[in-house]
Amino acid sequence: METIAERLKSAHESLAKATDKVHRATNSVQLLAVSKTKPVSDIVQAYEAGHRLFGENYVQEGVEKIQALNELSDIEWHFIGPLQSNKAKLVAEHFDWVQSIDRAKIANRLNTLRSPHKKLNVLIQVNINNESTKAGVLPEEVLEMAAQVASLANLQLRGLMTIPKAEQTDEQLKDSFLRMQDLFFQLKHLYPNIDTLSMGMTGDMQLAIENGSTMVRLGTAIFGART
Ligand SMILES: *Cc1c(COP(=O)(O)O)cnc(C)c1O
Repeated sequence: METIAERLKSAHESLAKATDKVHRATNSVQLLAVSKTKPVSDIVQAYEAGHRLFGENYVQEGVEKIQALNELSDIEWHFIGPLQSNKAKLVAEHFDWVQSIDRAKIANRLNTLRSPHKKLNVLIQVNINNESTKAGVLPEEVLEMAAQVASLANLQLRGLMTIPKAEQTDEQLKDSFLRMQDLFFQLKHLYPNIDTLSMGMTGDMQLAIENGSTMVRLGTAIFGART
């Protein structure tokens, strides 16, 4: 059995291999440890190994962990799951980032509920393969959503996130990532401060990094399989 510290080390090695391959700097890609369904003790192990960025999918579970680990105040918590209006208050009060903004109503609510003292970093989730069952705005809706988010004082637009369609060949996946990168560059032209293109998970991190990702979200690779 590998420890979480060993798995983290392997993940950083894979990341470095992928960035080297396309001549990008290793530190141009961040690694978000997705700890959903895993116990607080696993997060502590990753923390003790030096890791600071964690992602959670479920509001209640995430908030409980954030409260339990309150003393580890340099953890950066990312909410990456589907977000309903009635849970927006908890997210606005406890998380540092929300990666799953997909409608104006949620952006407005988070803005109203967020303390004006510390902006909430947000990514717009893009439904890059136009799947009827998947959350996210369509590519052609990104600019309008970005303008909306950028107008809100307590939110800081940081970029885009996507979960591409699962059943794709490497070629199709690459095409999805490249279209995301293209949208990201278009957006960066309008909002020069954005810096985050969140794409790539355990199964496709290499390909995502080779095609422009600046943040990979790894669950299984770090914490092992989920039951
Ligand atoms: C669960 C999840 C991940 C991590 O998935 P793995 O395949 O275990 O790396 C990444 N992003 C989102 C949005 C997730 O829900």
